Amino acid sequence: MNKEKLKEFIEKELGTQADETILEKFSTYESLLIEWNRRFNLTAIKEEDDVLVKHFIDSIYPLKYVHFNESESLIDIGSGAGFPGLCLAIMCPNLKITLVESTGKKVSFMNEVKEKLHLDNVTLLEARAESLNKYKEQFDYASARAVSQLNVLLELTIPLLKVNGHFLAYKGSMVDIEIKQAKRALHILSAEIEEKYTYNLPYINDGRSFLVIRKRKATEHKYPRSYSLIKNKPL
Ligand code: SAM
Repeated sequence: MNKEKLKEFIEKELGTQADETILEKFSTYESLLIEWNRRFNLTAIKEEDDVLVKHFIDSIYPLKYVHFNESESLIDIGSGAGFPGLCLAIMCPNLKITLVESTGKKVSFMNEVKEKLHLDNVTLLEARAESLNKYKEQFDYASARAVSQLNVLLELTIPLLKVNGHFLAYKGSMVDIEIKQAKRALHILSAEIEEKYTYNLPYINDGRSFLVIRKRKATEHKYPRSYSLIKNKPL
């Protein structure tokens, strides 16, 4: 992996120290991803340079905007091969991160990364996000990247947050259409968009958006509904 490129990004853009331990963890993660991708189709992005920018840097870019406090908790929904959850876990060792993924093979991969990188702040759940009843109202943050459209994601994530917790939505450049379609869901779930950031990923200039959405009130017990309703009749 091009450690210099990652170091430059972390130090110049995020303004934090990129020590060798962090760089080495990303490098091991990348090797494991490339190795596993030869056997299983974990991610569409497979080239080294693409993994660095489109997975690692994309996942940690929002650390420019969000500063987690000691011992806060985050649940990442539909983590796949660990994006953004595992990357945030490497960068923020004091953040307690729960990764939720419904595909067993991807959970096995994330478990291997967790073990090899000694990520003691990570808990893995092989589950569907809409079935996490016992985790309702528990997290300071939720996150999701490339999982679904915003109105669907809101119903999956907002019930899991504490009141005043935040959903961090990683989105592409066409986010305004999704925001329009999510107006009703935001209202029903008592959530509001606090911040919308737009930027280009470094080195490749691909447009991205990042939304910070606050939960204002406790969620009614009936949410989330079954996945077929969430998907076919979004709020
Ligand atoms: N977030 C990762 C990323 O950005 O690379 C993975 C994106 S992948 C396109 C979507 C992932 O979400 C898949 O691995 C899928 O199994 C998972 N997924 C979709 N709906 C889910 C749900 N309701 N609960 C848990 N996982 C879900």
